[in-house]
Amino acid sequence: MTHSSSPSIGHEARWWRPLENGRVLCELCPRECRPAPGQRAYCLVRRNEGGRLVTDAWNAGLGFAADPIEKKPLYHVRPGSRVLSFGTAGCNLGCVHCQNASMSQSKAALARMEHATPGMLLRAAKSQNCAGLAFTYNEPVIFGEFVMACAEAARATGLYNVMVSNGYVALPAAREIYQQIDAVNVDLKGFREDAHRKLTRGRLAPVLDFLRWLRHETTVWLELTTLLIPGHNDGAEELGELTRWVADELGPDTPLHLTAFHPDHRLLDVPRTPAETLLRARQIALAAGLRYVYLGNLPLAEGNDTLCPACGVVCVVRDGWGESSVRLVDGCCPGCGAGVPGFWATGARAVAGTRDARR
Ligand code: SF4
Repeated sequence: MTHSSSPSIGHEARWWRPLENGRVLCELCPRECRPAPGQRAYCLVRRNEGGRLVTDAWNAGLGFAADPIEKKPLYHVRPGSRVLSFGTAGCNLGCVHCQNASMSQSKAALARMEHATPGMLLRAAKSQNCAGLAFTYNEPVIFGEFVMACAEAARATGLYNVMVSNGYVALPAAREIYQQIDAVNVDLKGFREDAHRKLTRGRLAPVLDFLRWLRHETTVWLELTTLLIPGHNDGAEELGELTRWVADELGPDTPLHLTAFHPDHRLLDVPRTPAETLLRARQIALAAGLRYVYLGNLPLAEGNDTLCPACGVVCVVRDGWGESSVRLVDGCCPGCGAGVPGFWATGARAVAGTRDARR
């Protein structure tokens, strides 16, 4: 893809209303910023320009790359396919352990955004043999207007759309942004309100509300990731509560990715997650009733493949990112014929598993 170095700026945003004294209220996420004229909001890409909320993340992006879908991670979505991935500057959370802080928490990243229209992205996706678009790296809802434009264009040409999200979004906006989204991986960064605030500068409760909404009121395919940070969110009691909540509220077929932390950004004094912690957490999740519990960021013998929960036969073999071998027959286990929920279709546009199949 060819980019110019001058992104479009000042595109009028959605999901806001005017307040007194020229301030505006952004209604896109639970942070509810109220920037004064001339001020940027918390997520950097939205700002008050003369009493209007505008976005600088329109026809613009950062970090364009063709990735294996497994890298998002999304394990029950078109295994072996590639997605054209990008994000923007800014984020609506301020995670102290962010692995993309040079994009998400740096004003300098605004100047690095490149011009990219939906048409340019689709041409790049096709030329790089991508089956879908991935809105990722930072929180995609902060550029929700552009996500909607790209996702609509992608669907019209037979590409699928996925998000990698922190789940920090107001539901009225999510209802619009997720209309053309096929699958999402949401980071569930812990299960303690106070620790969540310290780690992310955001509240946990809205994330749980969003997850319930996504699961019960949409057909978007949902997977979760929890990064296990030693001493912060890896206690057995907390993990037990988190995984039981997922099983009860979102269903036991919701894939959960438990991934290893490495020191980054402002959390440099915390050690890497040991393999034993991941293995123990997986046992807790399985005991809570979750059927698909994967391990990531460490080379381990377990937690890579998709096993049939009914008979234990391997249904999808994963040998590194993008090297998946699917043994399913019409979405069913090749051993016993039990349905394995997911987004397996190989046609022009993937079709999500039915709601019943996920239960
Ligand atoms: S999307 Fe950005 S501007 Fe809007 S409330 Fe959230 S952080 Fe603030």
